[in-house]
Amino acid sequence: MTDPIFIIPCSGIGKAYGTISREATYCVVEDLRKGETDTLCLSLLVSGDEETQRLVKSHRCIAIDGCPLECAKKNLEFSCAKLTANFRVIDLLKEHRKLKPKSITFLDKAGRELTKFLADKIALKVDELNRGETAS
Ligand code: SF4
Repeated sequence: MTDPIFIIPCSGIGKAYGTISREATYCVVEDLRKGETDTLCLSLLVSGDEETQRLVKSHRCIAIDGCPLECAKKNLEFSCAKLTANFRVIDLLKEHRKLKPKSITFLDKAGRELTKFLADKIALKVDELNRGETAS
């Protein structure tokens, strides 16, 4: 059994795109690629928690960000993490323009569909990485 790949979403409180990045992460870690993936708290990384810092340096990581500010990706880079891929909800929205979520407090139908598309993309990336493919 290979080491888990860490899927690390941005915090995104108060933004629908941040909620989608977190929900898609849970969908992959708890369902689609359960056992092959894990997650951790970005805030622990940012606050300098030693165990979290060690984990992101020793395991492959995928950053999931809501918007172009890329909080998860930038903090992983800053921590010299083994960053192997990254996704942005905002990019996915360009491919699925009709799925613009309207609510920020809970995911509406569009938000849930976008979450599913993102989770599927992350799961495929996990498969690629576990097969040894590196193209993003
Ligand atoms: S990437 Fe965007 S949505 Fe996510 S935490 Fe940063 S500012 Fe918020």
